[in-house]
Amino acid sequence: MSGTAVVPGVLTATGHPLQRAGAWAVALLALRAGPEQVTADDLDRVAAVVVEDAVRAAMAEKNTAAYDWWKVLFALYPNSKATHSKRPRDAAALREALTSLFAADAEGPSTAEWPCTFCGARAGALWAKSTLPMFDTNTALNTLPPNVPGWPVCRGCRIAAWSLPYGAWVTAGSVTVLGCEAAGAERAFTARNMRDARRIMQLGFGARRVGARPELNAVRALRALRSDVQAAATLWTFKNDNQEPWLRVVRTCQSLAHFLAVVDSNAEPRRGWRLLELSLTRRGTDGKVVTSGPDEAARLLFEADDSHSRSLLWTLHRLLHPRENSWNVRDRAALTRLALTYAEETLGMKPHLEPVATLVADWIEHGSGSPRGRLAEYRQAALNDYHLGRLLSTAQFRLTLDGRPVATGPEDWQQFIERRPRAWEHRMLLASRVIQLIQERGVTVSDATGSIDDETERLVEQPILEPADEDLGDEMGEM
Ligand SMILES: [Zn+2]
Repeated sequence: MSGTAVVPGVLTATGHPLQRAGAWAVALLALRAGPEQVTADDLDRVAAVVVEDAVRAAMAEKNTAAYDWWKVLFALYPNSKATHSKRPRDAAALREALTSLFAADAEGPSTAEWPCTFCGARAGALWAKSTLPMFDTNTALNTLPPNVPGWPVCRGCRIAAWSLPYGAWVTAGSVTVLGCEAAGAERAFTARNMRDARRIMQLGFGARRVGARPELNAVRALRALRSDVQAAATLWTFKNDNQEPWLRVVRTCQSLAHFLAVVDSNAEPRRGWRLLELSLTRRGTDGKVVTSGPDEAARLLFEADDSHSRSLLWTLHRLLHPRENSWNVRDRAALTRLALTYAEETLGMKPHLEPVATLVADWIEHGSGSPRGRLAEYRQAALNDYHLGRLLSTAQFRLTLDGRPVATGPEDWQQFIERRPRAWEHRMLLASRVIQLIQERGVTVSDATGSIDDETERLVEQPILEPADEDLGDEMGEM
């Protein structure tokens, strides 16, 4: 194979999440299949678009829709020529200043050359915080050593850094990018955000759907993958602020695409997901959506590294708890099935619920005193390993004494009462199944009927992962 030189492309999607998101944005702005297809001519065109949009935003009057894109740029590049308070007020001067940022890397033996910080290609420019998001700040991803003027960045990566807001989920104060092992999901996420970016430039943030969240965009992008694709999605949200820059990272499990496929193709968990979405939807007094259920539900599929996030199982547990809500048999079964599906498909749990759930349900139905009192007792103990263990012993003793068949022993109890990972989740699933069983048996423990009206039933039948008042035109260009 001698003589076959690898010709590096003008743009590489690297492992750095912000550079990677920017590279995808360049590719889609250039109408290419991926970053590696981008040509030098494409870079010229994309740089021109980026510069023109930035100039327009920088010239916009405050409190106009066009000014909202300036807020986006300010969140990313707070000290740049386009966003600085002392920026040129003359469009031609600003255009010239910005264009120079994306000039070709100078060539020739006399030129200083360094490998690009991101992709390793030859770089002729040094960039620092004013033009690179999340660089050289107190809580930054990367910080320059003292007396180093900047990071070498090649032309492709410089244009990627400024194409970032087109492919990222942006707000007036933050930016969110997706990292995923499956390139198809990154592309789909970028494409969705790009349509959003165009709309923000024209109409401002006021045109965005109320309650819209990046997690729903990411989940929809993952849903488009084949179900056997193992790929976790990571969302990086940050603000490149002068005073208090911050970064928050949340991620899904590896098998989310599979979980979504199972939910999509099975009526019961799909109904459960819709019920979850509807229960998370909040409307104002005028009937308009204030909190979007599909977006909030999608959010539950992500967990923060510090685990300070609400989990899907906990939310379902709260929903199924009879004191907070009442459900008919069908809807309780749907929500319980959803919880079980999530536990099995994404957490890899293999809960063996039936023997223990039957023991508890038998005891609630037949033990001494009233079923309502025993259910209250079980609720008190349900999520605590020690108290649940005691209750199981009591139940087994009581039922055996009464001559009722007990088809379970302490070996079945282990996964619920041992102190080990996921034991708490096991107890939560057990509680859902117990309540479902006693409801199926018609044991009266609640005054609520859990009936569902026609309008609610119509809403439950609607597709999942689609916000109530979404602009359908947005979907027409879906890739
Ligand atoms: Zn580079």
